[in-house]
Amino acid sequence: MAERKQRVDVKLKKEDSVRVIAGKERGKTGRILRVDHAKGRVFLHGINMVKKAVKKRKQNDRGGIIDIEGSIAVSDVMIICAKCGPTRIGYKFDGDAKVRICKKCGEPL
Ligand SMILES: [Zn+2]
Repeated sequence: MAERKQRVDVKLKKEDSVRVIAGKERGKTGRILRVDHAKGRVFLHGINMVKKAVKKRKQNDRGGIIDIEGSIAVSDVMIICAKCGPTRIGYKFDGDAKVRICKKCGEPL
């Protein structure tokens, strides 16, 4: 059986401002901390916090449970355009450079 490879084309970048449009964090706005291109997921600063168990690394570490950012599917977030708000990403060529633009107003993102 042929292996089906699902590669998501992630157009978002670190530090982009995005709006969460689905899931339990819907309606929140945050900045991208990290993009997981392989899985098509993003991590937002302070959003979708999950508990994680950490081991003691040093003698005086407490270890235990900490809160860290959990990933969100890229399909559940939308980039925010300064003019239009949440929007989709398009591209245009400026000479040889590929520029990300807002699909609604055409402004560079
Ligand atoms: Zn726009």
